[in-house]
Amino acid sequence: MDNLDAEDCVGIDLGITNYIYTSNGDSVDWLDLSDEYERLRREQRSLSRKEHGSNNWEKQRQEVAKVKRRIKRKVEDFQHKLTTWLVKMYDAVFVEDLNVVGMLQQRGNARNKQDAAWRGFIEMLEYKGDLYGTHVVQVNPAGTTKECAECGVETEKPLWVREHSCPSCGFEVDRDANASYNVLSRGLQELGLGQAEVTPVETATAVETDGGRSSSVPASHVIETGSLGA
Ligand SMILES: [Zn+2]
Repeated sequence: MDNLDAEDCVGIDLGITNYIYTSNGDSVDWLDLSDEYERLRREQRSLSRKEHGSNNWEKQRQEVAKVKRRIKRKVEDFQHKLTTWLVKMYDAVFVEDLNVVGMLQQRGNARNKQDAAWRGFIEMLEYKGDLYGTHVVQVNPAGTTKECAECGVETEKPLWVREHSCPSCGFEVDRDANASYNVLSRGLQELGLGQAEVTPVETATAVETDGGRSSSVPASHVIETGSLGA
C-alpha cells in the first residue's frame, strides 16, 4: 500500500444506540429524528381513521408521504456530510462488516432499523471513498466489543457496561474506544499495514494524554455546518 500511513487511518465503532465512535476519540451522535417519527405516527393514525379511497383519505395519504420524504432527506443529508468529513479527514476508514450474519443475530430484531441505517451509511461511505480516493474497508465484526484491544483476551460485556476493563492485562478504556481500536487494527491488517506503528496501547495513550483531542460532536453541528471540525 503506497503512501498510506497508519496514522491517517481510522477505525469506527458503529454504536448500537445511534452514534459512531472513532479510534481517534471522536464521537458523533446520530440524528435525533424522534420528532419526525412522532409526526409520522400521528399522520398515519389520522390516515387509518379516514375512509379508504375518499378525498380526505387521499389528502392524508399525501401528508404521510411528505413526512416520510422529509425524514429520508434528513438522513441522506446527514450521511452525506458525515461520510464526506471522514473520507476527507482520513486516507483509510475501517468499519464493521454488517453483512456478517453473527452480528445481526447478536443484535436482535429490535436493531434491524438501525442496521438498515448503518448499511446506508456504509454504502455512502464506500461511494465517497471512491470519489476522494480513500480506502474504505469492512472488517470482521466478531468480538470487537468483547476482545481486549491490547491483549486480545475476550470478556463478556453486557450493554450497560460502558468501560472496558481487561481482567487479563488490566487495560482500561471506554467500551466503544476499545471496539474502535479493534476495528482499526483489523483494518490495518487487511491493508497489510500490520500493527507495528499503531498498537492499541499507543493509540489509547495518545488519546488519553492529548486531552483536547477527544471530542463529542452533536449531530446538529454536522447538519448546520456540514463539518465536524472545531
Ligand atoms: Zn487485555
